[in-house]
Amino acid sequence: MHASGEQSRTIRRGVEVRGIVQGVGFRPYVYRLATERCLSGLIRNTVAGVEIEVQGEAEAVVDFLERLPQEAPPLARITDLAVRDLACGHEESFRILVSQPGAEPRVLISPDVAICDDCLRELFDPADRRYRYPFINCTNCGPRYTILRGIPYDRARTSMNVFQMCAACRAEYEDPANRRFHAQPNACWDCGPKVDLRVSTGESMNAADPFAAAGAQIEAGAIVAVKGLGGFHLACDATNREAVARLRDRKRRVEKPFAVMAPSLQAIEAYCEVDEESRALLVRPERPIVLLRRKQHSDIADGVAPFNRYLGVFLPYTPGHHLLLAAVHSTALVMTSGNLSEEPIAIGNEEALDRLRGLADYFLLHNRDILLRSDDSVVRVANGRVRQLRRSRGYVPAPVFLHKEVPPILAVGGELKNTICLTRGSHAFLGQHIGDLENAESYRFFEEVVSHLQRILEIEPRVVAYDLHPDYFSTRWALRHPAVELVGVQHHHAHVAACMAENHLDGRVIGVALDGTGFGTDGKIWGGEILLAGYDGFERAAHLNYVPMPGGEKAIYEPWRMAVSYLQHHFGPAFLEFDIPFVRKLDRRKVVTLLRMTERGVNAPLTSSCGRLFDAVSALAGIRGQVNYEAQAAVELEMAMDGAEDGSAYPLALVETESGWEMGTRPLFEALLRDISEGASVSVISRRFHNGLVDVIARLATLLRERTNLNRVCLSGGTFQNAYLLEHLTGNLEARGFVVFTHGEVPAGDGGLSLGQAMIAAHRVSECS
Ligand SMILES: [Zn+2]
Ligand SMILES: [Zn+2]
Repeated sequence: MHASGEQSRTIRRGVEVRGIVQGVGFRPYVYRLATERCLSGLIRNTVAGVEIEVQGEAEAVVDFLERLPQEAPPLARITDLAVRDLACGHEESFRILVSQPGAEPRVLISPDVAICDDCLRELFDPADRRYRYPFINCTNCGPRYTILRGIPYDRARTSMNVFQMCAACRAEYEDPANRRFHAQPNACWDCGPKVDLRVSTGESMNAADPFAAAGAQIEAGAIVAVKGLGGFHLACDATNREAVARLRDRKRRVEKPFAVMAPSLQAIEAYCEVDEESRALLVRPERPIVLLRRKQHSDIADGVAPFNRYLGVFLPYTPGHHLLLAAVHSTALVMTSGNLSEEPIAIGNEEALDRLRGLADYFLLHNRDILLRSDDSVVRVANGRVRQLRRSRGYVPAPVFLHKEVPPILAVGGELKNTICLTRGSHAFLGQHIGDLENAESYRFFEEVVSHLQRILEIEPRVVAYDLHPDYFSTRWALRHPAVELVGVQHHHAHVAACMAENHLDGRVIGVALDGTGFGTDGKIWGGEILLAGYDGFERAAHLNYVPMPGGEKAIYEPWRMAVSYLQHHFGPAFLEFDIPFVRKLDRRKVVTLLRMTERGVNAPLTSSCGRLFDAVSALAGIRGQVNYEAQAAVELEMAMDGAEDGSAYPLALVETESGWEMGTRPLFEALLRDISEGASVSVISRRFHNGLVDVIARLATLLRERTNLNRVCLSGGTFQNAYLLEHLTGNLEARGFVVFTHGEVPAGDGGLSLGQAMIAAHRVSECS
């Protein structure tokens, strides 16, 4: 391949590598790669990544440079690699140089990583000195972000600082050729953290093998609180109906699905359909929870995910998980966040014993502190691509790479499924899933993440971006933030900008933002929006027609209210005579109260929400009049679809008004009511409704293209977690010649909002400066 004349020539090359290349075993990797090829030179950590110099026979150097990116450690992520010629030097060997103090910040911190194959083999090898040691790790695996107190990332600034390495561990830690070279959480039976099984009152059971003892209790039907990487899980046997029912009852979580941890891929294949992409996702070092279609018959208890055709499944990611799963015969454990419904996950031993008292029968504790809570991430494959639903443990704090430099900004996100975002250079750091900012615990968690991320990333934001909703906790927090520039961003504008940023777009796009709730610039609740948008601003080109949302927030949990509101809006009081099951079953007294509310406009804000339209259709179709978690009615409406496509769609009207197009839902409801009275199946109704939305949006996009020449469409907002809608709208738009952009790395829902806020704020401040 290479010019043979070069073979005997000695050359020296300098390589600058950027990306995630520190704390991921990159230096020992390069050391091995160089010494195997008899190259001399050096490697050191720099402010931006690592710097390498290699010298030796030309062919060996060229081979080194080729392999360098190809065989990099699994956790490394190289974003830039620049090679330059250097004059030859005189050193004999290849050396790892100590990084200069002050050269460490600006480095990307690795997320927490699942146990690697080498450590897993040692874990179950009776001859290994770490046989069954629950905290085995190396530079390729183990905790990072969740045990980090400050930077640079070294042992003194992690929660491992209280454990003194023994001589054997220290020797590994200091040997550049060892897999544990500078593995900060390195530990063993002699010197590291320990596990203890306690009863619910906190007393130790003094179990010789706490995992075996905990496993036995789980097999007997108990609920065990298990301290893991980013917090506690509540674990029970997923095939034990009674245990699952007891867990639901104690956790006060009525129907929201529980995630299930399986010992192996084969076990998962017994109860779920696993496609190629999902299989690859399940075994990735991030170990997310992957949503998979359930097989019809399995021994998983129905209570794990009632009324849901999907199951959230993941594989063990800590050595402790492996030891626990090896101790039970069940093919699946429920592993749900250790908290009461909607509170943040518990992380401290005392905290868990206190907050989870009454939820767990036993506590499997350990004495390595979790410094920052981090929930499991949730992903799914839809329309052939990986989609983040909840971006958290395993992904945070790896940055989202931007296509341009932006100033330091803090964006505080929305109210539900909150995340924050900090920017620096061409990196956007999204924090872990914080959840719904509606209780004191979540507020504290939010503030913790804001200050912790600023500290470890060394970002002092000049600008704080926030949602326009005056009552969001995050908004109020931002408005109290002293001495910075504040930028308010409209909710759906932020959604579209997040999609643009993730896809490295500039200029203007047709932005389709569909979700449940977002504060509009007219003070109304938006959610079925088509915007002509760029980072610099937006024009509201179209929206669903407004209807009252009787009872405000209450309507989110009682979809029947939206159904009544739509019927009243389109048909007046005559709807009470409609001969359909939904109307027949209505409680007339409640309806009268509700209609009085909408007439007087008291506690009945107007909304163009797409989520609420889904709710209304779901209620009318007889799926759900009440829900136990947000968007449940919409999820079950999507799930109701089975059987073949008949190509028909409920029509929506397009009316041009002074403020853009209005998507009128009256013809949709007329057709829907006709179907209901003719006894159409829920599946048919659901499909025609979905097709109707696809159709009207595609027609609108075409009209807007004629007017503006814009040909790029961004799809964003929580409604696009609906796989059918995502797939069919993308397909329809592409067939019309549009270039369609969707979310992958960043959630389409409110978890991605902060990224869009940051990008819009970045544009606004650079305009002004
Ligand atoms: Zn390892
Ligand atoms: Zn040791």
